[in-house]
Amino acid sequence: MPVPARKKSNASGRRRRSHDSLKPATTAVCAKCASPVQPHHACSTCGFYRGREAVNTNKNIEKLVKQAQKKAPKAVKAPKAPKVAKAPKKSKEA
Ligand SMILES: [Zn+2]
Repeated sequence: MPVPARKKSNASGRRRRSHDSLKPATTAVCAKCASPVQPHHACSTCGFYRGREAVNTNKNIEKLVKQAQKKAPKAVKAPKAPKVAKAPKKSKEA
């Protein structure tokens, strides 16, 4: 197995790593809904790109709703309130 000829100094390692930092992602603003979007990508909120609808987000939402309705159990009926026993009538014969 090859072995490095000599130890890399701390300075040379740090010099190499000076270019390793990550830069924050650039964002543009959607012209239709003004939400932040990746440049050159359709808006994930409204599906528009360059003035026209590139992705139909409404269809996607309808699909998700249908899937959720299939998975969700049927609505459970609320239990009836228990009948309150009427107090026995007081007889006036006293
Ligand atoms: Zn948008």
